[in-house]
Amino acid sequence: MYRSHTCGELRISDIGKKVMLCGWVKKVRKLGGMTFVDLRDRYGVTQLVFNLETQSELFDTVDKLGREFVIQIEGNVAERASKNPNISTGDIEINASSITILNESKVPPFTIEDNTDGGEELRMKYRYLDIRREPIKKNLELRHKLAIETRKFLSEKSFLEVETPILIKSTPEGARDFVVPSRMNQGQFYALPQSPQSFKQLLMVAGIDRYFQIVKCFRDEDLRADRQPEFTQIDCEMSFVQQEDVLNIFEEMIKYLFKTEKNISLDFNFPRMPYEIAMRNYGSDKPDVRFDMKFNDITSIAKNRDFVVFNDSEIILAIVAKSCSEYSRKELDSLTEFVKKPQIGAKGLVYVKYNTDGTFKSSIDKFYTQEDFKTWADKCEAEPGDLMLILSGETAHTRKALCELRLEMGERLGLRNPEIFAPLWVVDFPLLEWDEETQRYYAMHHPFTSPKQEDLDLLISDPSKVRANAYDLVINGVELGGGSIRIHNKYLQNQLFRILGFTEEEAQKQFGFLMGAFEFGAPPHGGIAFGFDRLCAMFGGQESIREFIAFPKNNKGRDLMADSPSEISEAQLDELCLVIKLPK
Ligand code: ASP
Repeated sequence: MYRSHTCGELRISDIGKKVMLCGWVKKVRKLGGMTFVDLRDRYGVTQLVFNLETQSELFDTVDKLGREFVIQIEGNVAERASKNPNISTGDIEINASSITILNESKVPPFTIEDNTDGGEELRMKYRYLDIRREPIKKNLELRHKLAIETRKFLSEKSFLEVETPILIKSTPEGARDFVVPSRMNQGQFYALPQSPQSFKQLLMVAGIDRYFQIVKCFRDEDLRADRQPEFTQIDCEMSFVQQEDVLNIFEEMIKYLFKTEKNISLDFNFPRMPYEIAMRNYGSDKPDVRFDMKFNDITSIAKNRDFVVFNDSEIILAIVAKSCSEYSRKELDSLTEFVKKPQIGAKGLVYVKYNTDGTFKSSIDKFYTQEDFKTWADKCEAEPGDLMLILSGETAHTRKALCELRLEMGERLGLRNPEIFAPLWVVDFPLLEWDEETQRYYAMHHPFTSPKQEDLDLLISDPSKVRANAYDLVINGVELGGGSIRIHNKYLQNQLFRILGFTEEEAQKQFGFLMGAFEFGAPPHGGIAFGFDRLCAMFGGQESIREFIAFPKNNKGRDLMADSPSEISEAQLDELCLVIKLPK
């Protein structure tokens, strides 16, 4: 037996017990003949006391102790003179009578404390030390609990967890595939699943009418704080359902998780917002609706006067920042700087202050009268004391930039309260997106998404106007999940492939197995997938999903700890019939 208790377990009621503990040395303090050691394990920290005056035989061992040494001790639980209310074992300490060093440790490269001095790179390189820290350990615990509760909820609703393969034929989710060369099939490659999309649809054909899987997905795309090359989804699919059925059951699941994990009751129907409205009011298909600040289109009342910038614009949009008319020159300049950042890309920012005395002050005073500004203010429902911020230009571009400015203002005004959760379903996405560069349509969700029945005629006359039975769950501006009702009719599916520019042969080559299955009685079906890492980050109140992944990659897709990806040997290349051709 190594230990009788954990380092987070002993309480005042255990006083007098003889115990054995194991753990890592967090801290050593020497006070005269007494040495105090904080011993840490996964469950907590316990204070050990070595009285080296009465137990001089322990001196050599205790004297050697360094941070992160692994030790085993034996001793008696005693009441602590100066209690520490901050830790669960703070009322007691152990009068140690023996000590064994189970393993030594090099000095760790950063402090293993809640607030470490280690930067992100260092923490990732020594992730196993980082995980010893309480905040990261808590994140992994949260992840575990969320997975358990998800499984519990879905199992109770008759969903069956089925594993699907990792070495597969490419699935189209709009990103680049990671590929794996096959040794046994020379010159041929598997793809890693961007999602189990085709498999879950095949499971519906197979009669597994409620499927789910907490599953790794792989997408080779540029990384951000909320993206990793391998990430985890709660992937789900159901047969004999319409959009409403899917939304209802997964809304219930999200409510269940909020209740069980955070004790938050979301006792309301999640609003459903058509994509078009989301884009018009917030310039985004994942609006943060914790605060209002909707877009106001003032194009018709602000255009065609003497101000060339507006006259050359397709659209002129304003947001109203409440009670900000007193913004200083400096504050306004910093907002202008913000919108001019390359990633936002606006050329400039127009402001109109609606002063508390009812007058207006603007950066474009020369071109417009006080009455003009009043008309704009009325249109935007601005009141004295408010500040109107205006961007103009090409529609998509202006919406995107104003969306960023709106979020920035929300941040500055403290309107993005992390304690508040504002979920909504964004629905009625367009089925297709036109790409200027390649001059073709792409599926906005994926090619298996069904068009709305009432828009079917438009598939021929004006494909860009067709709406899809597709939906996203958005909470606080984060897209947490998305899915669609699928096409289960092979004629419609073929028509779609044609619109997407696949020849009959290409479609057959890439999706023939799925189309073939659809000839054997495919039921109507649909589903959704949630970003599990994002869900964890949201529940944990953080932005970066890396903090909730035990061994994440950095934003170049590298595993800094194992130093991967890395080259492989000539012999391996030969076996795979591969030749490396690096760019010159
Ligand atoms: N496979 C889709 C995705 O990964 C989700 C779905 O349509 O169910 O986004």
